[in-house]
Amino acid sequence: MNENAASKIYVSRREGARPAAPVLSVIVPVYNEDEVIRHFLEATRPVLDRTGLKYEYVFIDDGSRDATADILAESLAGGLPGRMVGLSRNFGKEAALSAGLEAARGDVAVIIDADLQDPPELILRMLDSWRAGYDVVYGLRVDRSSDTMMKRSTAGMFYRLFNRLANIDMPANAGDFRLIDRAVIDALLKLPERNRFMKGLFAWVGFPAVALPYERPPRKAGTGKFNYWKLWNFALDGLTGFTTLPLRVWFYGGVLISLSAFAYALFLIIRTSLFGVDVPGYASLMVALLFFSGVQLLSIGMIGEYIARLFNEAKQRPVYIVQDVIEGTPSDDRGNR
Ligand code: UDP
Ligand code: MG
Repeated sequence: MNENAASKIYVSRREGARPAAPVLSVIVPVYNEDEVIRHFLEATRPVLDRTGLKYEYVFIDDGSRDATADILAESLAGGLPGRMVGLSRNFGKEAALSAGLEAARGDVAVIIDADLQDPPELILRMLDSWRAGYDVVYGLRVDRSSDTMMKRSTAGMFYRLFNRLANIDMPANAGDFRLIDRAVIDALLKLPERNRFMKGLFAWVGFPAVALPYERPPRKAGTGKFNYWKLWNFALDGLTGFTTLPLRVWFYGGVLISLSAFAYALFLIIRTSLFGVDVPGYASLMVALLFFSGVQLLSIGMIGEYIARLFNEAKQRPVYIVQDVIEGTPSDDRGNR
């Protein structure tokens, strides 16, 4: 993360607009996390108690096939404040986060992974920044050594490409671990698109934001849910959702190619009129043919990526389907706004 990008994210903060007794929502997407979810609860509850705030957990069970939902339902019945929204199948983390934002009732929310890669203690510092007037406090992974070399370098490439092409500033190495104010949640809920590239959407809605650097530890237990094919499609979603440059660039490519074709034609005409007909030319023909079919396929493919996404938006399907909601034990007026 360079200084530059971070300082650009700083926007003037607002003073003193926080409610006196805010409720904190802790949004946790979970997908097959039964190996780690108990650790997660043990690690987060003391921290949340220390905040002195009323809080609620908002779990989104993203179609888990293991005991995750049972463990959480049991904990909720046993006094855990909050609720669990069960999705009808696995819709992916982005959709789960949208479901979590929809189900959160707090004045302020923290989005956190269940695998303890996002240190819960940071929530306290995030709240301090929130009280100081920032509506978004995002965790910035300064040390990604728990990720593989390959993942780090491809991620770095993606952030560079994204920030160069898209008209919004998305801080590099900011994950989904962040605190957001109610105003930001409401803004996000108003966005109608089905393509939920949350990191981009967070950046797109704006609001005063500040970074909170932290070292990202490896997963506590269980296995990561993303592979490179998923990440590649995730990156495509991000790029196509926030920039149309790949669509428009072909116009300029076309102009450039047409101009050089014109120059080449001129050269051929002059050469033929000066030196007469010259039959051999297989190599240049072949090269031009291959090159231009390549360019055409590439541009058609690019257009296809956008059309596919337009198609998905046009279908107007919901981002996720809620199968059931399990309410936790409401202790005093927890979660009531
Ligand atoms: N997750 C989810 N749905 C999915 C994949 C992941 O809700 O389809 C959740 C997962 O349970 C975890 C968080 O998203 O709480 C991050 O997942 P993971 O640790 O696999 O991602 P990484 O840390 O590699 O980014
Ligand atoms: Mg993880």
